[in-house]
Order: sequence, then structure tokens, then C-alpha cells
Amino acid sequence: MRTPVIAGNWKMYKTAQEASAFVREFLPLVADADRVETVLAPPFPYLATVAALTRGTRVGVASQNVHFADEGAYTGEVSPRMVRDAGAAYAIIGHSERRQYFLETDGFVNRKVRAALAAGLVPILCLGEMLAEREADRTIEVVERQIRDGLAEVPASAAGRIIVAYEPVWAIGTGKTATPAQAQEVHAFLRGRLKQLWGDEAGHSVRILYGGSVKPENIASLMAQDDIDGALVGGASLSAGSFAKIVKYR
Ligand code: PEP
Repeated sequence: MRTPVIAGNWKMYKTAQEASAFVREFLPLVADADRVETVLAPPFPYLATVAALTRGTRVGVASQNVHFADEGAYTGEVSPRMVRDAGAAYAIIGHSERRQYFLETDGFVNRKVRAALAAGLVPILCLGEMLAEREADRTIEVVERQIRDGLAEVPASAAGRIIVAYEPVWAIGTGKTATPAQAQEVHAFLRGRLKQLWGDEAGHSVRILYGGSVKPENIASLMAQDDIDGALVGGASLSAGSFAKIVKYR
């Protein structure tokens, strides 16, 4: 059985004080959520604070991005080793906002995935089609390329340490959620590709999250799908109350 993962991506929101207040309110709300892996992804400056406040709990911490080098002359970037050092165990990689606004390519995303693994982080590899691609019936072609190139040269032995997040771009921050059936169709395709790539057992073990306007009201129907193993949540993860309801979807 795959342990579900519910990850909250705060994007570029919250101050230090708001981040701490969130964690203090959130932890008691999810104290009994022991069958779910819960992850918070605050902005870089608050990684260490959120990691310190969640230490010893079941809540893990992710960065929202990472560079591929250990260190170097890359002004403004943060390395996987630094993210680990700040107390994070996961790194979101290839989020569509980074692909769209910061021109991250599949090749770049792949380097980051491999660097995160090498640093002992669990990459959360994001992929998904734009609205025009879905309307042109190109969803499968797009996600096939993203998963193949994003995981290039990643061995099957890493399967248990990789999380994939399918996030249709048209559903992110728009209030439009993919229907459970639309999401399941793509998740099943991705699962099949992972099995082809790494073999049945390893492909079966990879957690594939859905992301795109997940809310307390729609999480249960998404989680009822065979190949949906959790959610990557943006807007609804900014309030401790709504994110806790998503974590406790059962
Ligand atoms: C996201 O940022 O990954 C996301 C899915 O955002 P939202 O839940 O707001 O659509």
C-alpha cells in the first residue's frame, strides 16, 4: 500500500510571524492524522523556522524549488544541500509556475531531480498540460515527455524516494478542478509509464499526487481514485483550518 501524501505549497505568501502562527494552529489539528504523510512547503526564508517548529511531529517540510549544484556562483539560488541543512526532507521541482515564469525546461528539471536525490531529498516532480494542450488533445503526449525527460537517468532504486505530482495548469489557482475521472486517466497513464521505466514493483510504489484547486470539498472524491495517492495543494494550504481538513479527508 502507498502511504498518501498531502503537501501544501505556500508559494510566495506569508511572513515569518504568519508562518509560525500557521504551524502552531495546524499541528494540534492534525495530531491524529497518522495514516498520511503531511508536508508544508514554505518560502525559503522560513524553511528552518517551519522545520524547527515541526521537528518530532509527523509533518515534514519541503522547499518550493532547488538548484542543481551543491554550491557555486549562482546568485539568488539555493542548493539541495542548503535545503537539507535547513531541515527540509522534500523539494518541489518543476512546478508549472517555474516552468512558465522562470523558463524551466524538462532538462533543467531533470538535473534538479537528480541533484535533490543525491542530497538525500525526496523530489516532488510536478508536471501537467496547459489548457491549450488539453483542448488540442495533447495531454498524454505532454505528460509523457515531461515524465520521460524529468526522470532521465534516474534509476529504479530511487522509485521509493520520488513523488510525482500531476497538476493540469488550467486547474492551478483557477478554482477549476479536474474531475476525479480526468485526473485518474492521467495518473493511470503515468503509473503505466513508471512501470515501463522501472518495472512493475517500483512503478507501483511511486506516489502520484494530484494538484489543481484541491479543497476540503473535493479531496475525498479525488482520493477515491486508484492511482491518486495524495494532493499538492496551493491556495487551500494557506489556512491551517482548510489544510487540516484536506489532510484529514477520510
Ligand atoms: C499548486 O500550487 O501546486 C496548486 C495546485 O495550487 P492551487 O491548489 O491553488 O490550485
